[in-house]
Amino acid sequence: MAKEEKQPALMATYARFPITIVKGKGSYVWNDKNEAYLDFTSGIATCNLGHVPEQVSQKVHQQLELLWHCSNLYEIPAQTKLAEALIQQSLFDQVFFCNSGAEANEAALKIARKYAKDQGHPERTAVVSFKQSFHGRTYATMSVTGQEKIQVGYDPLMSDVRFLAFNKDSDLEKIHDGKTAAVLLELVQGEGGVNPAQKDWLHSLQAICKANDILLIVDEVQTGMGRTGELFAYEHYEIEPDVMTLAKGLGSGFPIGAMLAKGTVAASFTPGTHGTTFGGNPLVATAGLATLTEMTMPSFMEEVKQKAADFKEQLNQLADQYSVITKVKGIGFLIGIEVSVEARKLVTMLQQHHVLTLTAGDSVLRILPPLTVTSREIEYFIQKLELVLIEIQRENKPIN
Ligand SMILES: *Cc1c(COP(=O)(O)O)cnc(C)c1O
Repeated sequence: MAKEEKQPALMATYARFPITIVKGKGSYVWNDKNEAYLDFTSGIATCNLGHVPEQVSQKVHQQLELLWHCSNLYEIPAQTKLAEALIQQSLFDQVFFCNSGAEANEAALKIARKYAKDQGHPERTAVVSFKQSFHGRTYATMSVTGQEKIQVGYDPLMSDVRFLAFNKDSDLEKIHDGKTAAVLLELVQGEGGVNPAQKDWLHSLQAICKANDILLIVDEVQTGMGRTGELFAYEHYEIEPDVMTLAKGLGSGFPIGAMLAKGTVAASFTPGTHGTTFGGNPLVATAGLATLTEMTMPSFMEEVKQKAADFKEQLNQLADQYSVITKVKGIGFLIGIEVSVEARKLVTMLQQHHVLTLTAGDSVLRILPPLTVTSREIEYFIQKLELVLIEIQRENKPIN
């Protein structure tokens, strides 16, 4: 059979913007006409140190000349060092490396079921997740994602998943029914609208998990690696999760994911029980180690926190002035601006001003500046956002 003619070579999974990005440095990217854009998406919370950060670039260049890949059959020094550094910076004991956020969550779901069996609870096969959550696009992670639009057309999904309402106290009693192995949640729902968990609610949730030996898994794929003004978002909440997943910001754009667990849980992964070819290979682990090293420099996170607080204050001032903004939410540099028009309209208008942003659902403009953003760049962004708000306000004004 002849091939169908004139089809694009790429499958149509993305509705792409008409911008071709060919270069990046710091908070800026350049298109194929050499025009600069201020990038307040960070490649979707991935290039947290900005584009092509110097220190990471140097280490990766050195590694490029030495070794790219050798498989996980041998010890990989950069991987070991990165694991040790992650453990030192967190309350977890061991790390498993993979290639993406979905794979990190996949590993977490697998270890949760295995841990339950190892503890003598083979009946505990269920996972509790939350409405509006996002955990990935593989079969298992799509199955625990609380958004119908992600799942439609793919049933039957993974069984034994229950969705509760996020931040709703009265739903917490539904967690423990004797079959639940784990609760999985984002501490700030990213894709689902930039919704931070409420501290009291989270503490009640944790108490139920602890009392019943149900694993608490935090998906920090988007909130981790400094995004919220702490290295990990759980630090804001003073909780002790059993498992944490990371990816996006971990490799500054190199594909690496990680699943971290407390020792008792990690013990359920023994030789042969899980694995991956590429996961944490020399190149990506080097990028990860250099990234973490930068973020743990003295005063790095303090500066992020300060800049994010200043930014939020300026956004709140715009919210006071322009009724298009109904709410400013989020923690640190994971920011959602709820608007009374289609959020996508603002993204498009900002693009015309050469500023890149994202949406989270229909009514939230999601803003993810690099953690290395300067106050001048923030000022510039605020100016452009204000221009767009004025434009929208003018359009919406009734003509009399
Ligand atoms: C992006 C994201 C994922 C999926 O990560 P991939 O690398 O795209 O597989 C999972 N969880 C959260 C919270 C995310 O933001």
